[in-house]
Amino acid sequence: MKIDMDRKLRDLVGAKTAKTFADVLAIETVGDLLRHYPRRYLKKGELTPFRDLEVGDQATVNGRVKKVTVRSLDTKAEIPLTDVQKWSRRKTLTKVVVTDGERDLELAFFNQPWLATKLTPGTAALFWGEVTMFRDIMQLKGPGTEILDDEDLTEAEIERRARPFRPLYPATAKLPTATIERSVKIVLDSLEDELDDPVPALIRRQEKLLDLVDALRKVHLPDTEKDIDAAQKRFRFEEALVMQTILAQRRAVTDALNAVPRPRAAGGLLDEFDARLPFALTEGQAEVGEEIFADLARPHPMHRLLQGEVGSGKTVVALRAMLSVVDNGGQAVLLAPTEVLATQHHKTLTKMLGDLAEQGMLGGAEHATKVGLLTGSLNAASRRAAMLDAAGGAAGIVVGTHALLEDKVQFADLGLVVVDEQHRFGVEQRAALSAKSGENTPHVLVMTATPIPRTVAMTVFGDLAVSTLTQLPAGRSPIQSSVVPAKEKPDWLQRAWARVREEVGKGHQAYVVCPRIGDDVKNAADEEGEFVAGDDEGPKKQSRPPISVLQVSEALAEILPDLKVEVLHGRLPADEKDAVMTRFAAGEVDVLIATTVIEVGVDVPNASTMVIMDADRFGISQLHQLRGRVGRGKVPGLCLLVTDLWAGSKSYERLDAVASTTDGFELSRIDLETRREGDVLGVAQSGRRTSLKLLSVLRDEDVILTARHVANSIVSVDAELAEYPALRAFVRQALESASTEYLEKT
Ligand code: ADP
Ligand code: MG
Repeated sequence: MKIDMDRKLRDLVGAKTAKTFADVLAIETVGDLLRHYPRRYLKKGELTPFRDLEVGDQATVNGRVKKVTVRSLDTKAEIPLTDVQKWSRRKTLTKVVVTDGERDLELAFFNQPWLATKLTPGTAALFWGEVTMFRDIMQLKGPGTEILDDEDLTEAEIERRARPFRPLYPATAKLPTATIERSVKIVLDSLEDELDDPVPALIRRQEKLLDLVDALRKVHLPDTEKDIDAAQKRFRFEEALVMQTILAQRRAVTDALNAVPRPRAAGGLLDEFDARLPFALTEGQAEVGEEIFADLARPHPMHRLLQGEVGSGKTVVALRAMLSVVDNGGQAVLLAPTEVLATQHHKTLTKMLGDLAEQGMLGGAEHATKVGLLTGSLNAASRRAAMLDAAGGAAGIVVGTHALLEDKVQFADLGLVVVDEQHRFGVEQRAALSAKSGENTPHVLVMTATPIPRTVAMTVFGDLAVSTLTQLPAGRSPIQSSVVPAKEKPDWLQRAWARVREEVGKGHQAYVVCPRIGDDVKNAADEEGEFVAGDDEGPKKQSRPPISVLQVSEALAEILPDLKVEVLHGRLPADEKDAVMTRFAAGEVDVLIATTVIEVGVDVPNASTMVIMDADRFGISQLHQLRGRVGRGKVPGLCLLVTDLWAGSKSYERLDAVASTTDGFELSRIDLETRREGDVLGVAQSGRRTSLKLLSVLRDEDVILTARHVANSIVSVDAELAEYPALRAFVRQALESASTEYLEKT
């Protein structure tokens, strides 16, 4: 009887094994098992006569069994061959001596006592594995085995059988790869010749992809390298297609929503703003501006991601979009991740707009609007006033933290939401915003300074259109970066502080960033900002707590007693934070010791130097962000990455990478490469199955692009996938399993 993919595994492999599969790998059906692909393949070596074997070779031998013994690994006692079945769950060593008629070779198998009943004396078989030496005896340890049951095999046939690959599965001690291999063989033997294929036949033909059954056989039991490649190619495409279909459907849903079109109007705020701009827009800024204006003019909500290098001038782009909406009688909201940043943005926008933001004030320009600020720490009166401005429509632009979304804040006519830093903005927030604007959904522009490779953007943010600013405005000064190994070369740290003094001597300012505040809180994880561990050498293994703002503050009081030093961190009262930032921006403070509150957006062009303490405790992109705070004006920037690590460790290399380039895209690629695919997509590492098994969002750009194209054309004519039942079933399954959580990030 033939079986299909939905058949329960227990119908085929026995209840006990089936239960182990369910418990250990959450594999319940034939389909689950067949989609548990080999992790890699052990290539059988060249068929070698015993006398030519050399230690270290990957070899295949053709031998006849002379002798078999099984021992308990615990007691070393020999187990009678009649008893071996009882030992299947205990620790055993099976030794098999084989001969090629001229010499002997020993094979050692761990915990597979049943082999003794198969490899009885006289049995001919192929064995393959690595040649090792154990107590002067040449061995194959845990070799692959294929019994040659037919006595009259030709040389050629033996050669052929000797060639294939042995699949190695993601396995555990409870469920070794050999068990998986055996179960897969059983299942494949009774599999239907044709199965419903999620990849439509037409597409398979176009893309030269194997059909499902063929690919399943070849991925598990390949005969050649080509089989493996062809099978994997097909499954990679399938994964990309399912993912891109989900995203295409989601885009279709968004496209069906209504938004108020906000076409660009001449003679309004935007034109006046452009006319007064003290610099020319970069080409990129102008282009992206046009893309946004085109989106805003449509009766469906814009969902655009604006990614740009640190300092590439995203704020101007966002402000121009907001002004265009205000020109159309709508309101715009700018959401920042922290209060410090919201306050900064509010100041920046107000300053850039000048009298264009002085509506109702003496000297305000003709079309002037108002820029409101709504943060958690406003006093009751200011808060009420700001809320009134938002609800009544007087404030064309409202700046706030994300808390604004949870509030009772109402808008007269919310047309555009700009989100600075996408990482902290999710699906629910988007929904909360839509709720604030009636049946029309506002246009959304998400900005991120953490550039991500195109394919990652297409997956993680697959339902957003992407604009990218790669250029920096002209006249930027380069930033020089160095790693300072404080333990290995203590005098370098002294030198770093001397540099800070020199810079201040030239009239510039400096930041010192620390991973921790240090006001008696148990650990760094409680701190504000995201505390990103670099890799497995991260915080866990380090015994010393991270250097804190308050420690450095004390130390600098001695090292740099003549400089004006202040601290900034998330637990200061809001007005104090604000006051410190204002003094720093005004040049009244020489050195600002801070946590990552200054990570994004802080813009003080006179600051030239950044010292990052315990730099290894930050992630690559975070370091890049932090560094972006200097070199923002005519003053050349200097960034010193201080670490206790010694050169050569993995984390030290990450710091070296940051020091060696200021290209954010390059750094994000390095960053992503050092992570596992699951992390790239934001999926927890808990060993949960992700729907991406073979596809790599970093390497498989072509596949993803093609799949995206195919998915779009399918969904554009058949959004419900009525004509594609197998694909529909797959999409549903992917959505039901938690494995596509990464698709929920925006
Ligand atoms: P980011 O993209 O990192 O948010 P900002 O928007 O904060 O960058 O811009 C950084 C600085 O560059 C600001 O001081 C801004 O006024 C300035 N700037 C923006 N666009 C230009 C331009 N086209 N020419 C010169 N300076 C610019
Ligand atoms: Mg910014």
